[in-house]
Amino acid sequence: MSNVIHLLTGRPLRSLDEVLPFPGECLPCFVGRMVGSQGCSGGLGWVEQFRMHRAKRASALTRRLAAQGALCDCTLTDVVWRLSPGLWEWTADGRLLPPAEAPPCVGVRPNSAQPCRHWVSADELAM
Ligand SMILES: [Zn+2]
Ligand SMILES: [Zn+2]
Repeated sequence: MSNVIHLLTGRPLRSLDEVLPFPGECLPCFVGRMVGSQGCSGGLGWVEQFRMHRAKRASALTRRLAAQGALCDCTLTDVVWRLSPGLWEWTADGRLLPPAEAPPCVGVRPNSAQPCRHWVSADELAM
């Protein structure tokens, strides 16, 4: 078990595969999945985990996302990117809300830190 993983989750893992991005999985899909299954790292720990395994050359990634307002993993999929309005669902009381869980990632090319087409920039959505 890696010390990095232990620091992030504070508990043992059955397998390292549980905390690795799927092949082709994009950054916000991965981070959203980790926050859902393991919890927020309290910083950009899952972002950094993604970067180390899938986008090593994107050395400014966490700094760039922090500048966009991502204070921790769970704010990434709220403040920086939101699920595309096409995926939102009507609730019984007539409100349109993002689904609690993102659908499976549609994939991005290797070494990309870009989101897949499930995500839109939160700025864009606010307009
Ligand atoms: Zn958080
Ligand atoms: Zn995705």
